[in-house]
Amino acid sequence: TPSLYVVATPLGNLQDISPRAVAVLGSVAAVAAEDTRHSQRLLDAFGIRARLIALHEHNEQSAAGQVLRLLEEGGSVALISDAGTPAVSDPGARAVARVRAAGFPVVAVPGPCAAVAALSISGLGERGFRFVGFLPPKRAARRTAIEALRGDPDALVFYEAPHRVSECVEDLAGVLESGRRLLIARELTKLHEQSVVLPLEEAAAWLATDPNRVRGEFVLVLEGAPPGEGLDAEAERVLALLLAELP
Ligand code: SAM
Repeated sequence: TPSLYVVATPLGNLQDISPRAVAVLGSVAAVAAEDTRHSQRLLDAFGIRARLIALHEHNEQSAAGQVLRLLEEGGSVALISDAGTPAVSDPGARAVARVRAAGFPVVAVPGPCAAVAALSISGLGERGFRFVGFLPPKRAARRTAIEALRGDPDALVFYEAPHRVSECVEDLAGVLESGRRLLIARELTKLHEQSVVLPLEEAAAWLATDPNRVRGEFVLVLEGAPPGEGLDAEAERVLALLLAELP
């Protein structure tokens, strides 16, 4: 049956592509890619000849229509993004939903994902995690968004751009209580890969020590709220009243 394959591609190190991903990309009628020039280089590296169609945030509806027509004609399609897993802080979710609504199978060809890679080397994800992705780029909105995450006991996973990572870390430290551990991971699987876990309040200083430390692509993983932080003031007031009634 014609299917949409959602295929994860490397974050940087080409050896991270799976044999199954190579096989699928080489066998479909078309590969829908976020940036076709970028993806052409990936396909070339594996000697894959495929028809590429552009599917990015600005044309996702019309591109999804193109994908559907191919499926209706009996051809399978693969969806990839510039790096990692498509439709995770990347285009693709709307196309996936439309393909599902039309009744075609959607099949995962799993592999690299920056969020999961960072979580796996953080030592902070034992209890569970919450994937936040990108925080708002403007400071006030970002602080409000962080405030809303305050009580979450799960580890929080953020994506951040290099020109905003220092500001983001400052806001996390400004809004949340100190003592939480933070993983800063950059350039995962690449030449200048680096990762460190340190107390949240020391993170901004660590980044400021060396200009190289704010270069590249970043994932932040923040330890979840300490017990008790999840209760807002009203809940604490009610709890205190109830506790006072206990024998
Ligand atoms: N869908 C992708 C995934 O599953 O990994 C993520 C796409 S999102 C548009 C790009 C962000 O992912 C970057 O800004 C960065 O936060 C993170 N990222 C991607 N590659 C990375 C790498 N090699 N090292 C660290 N972070 C990376």
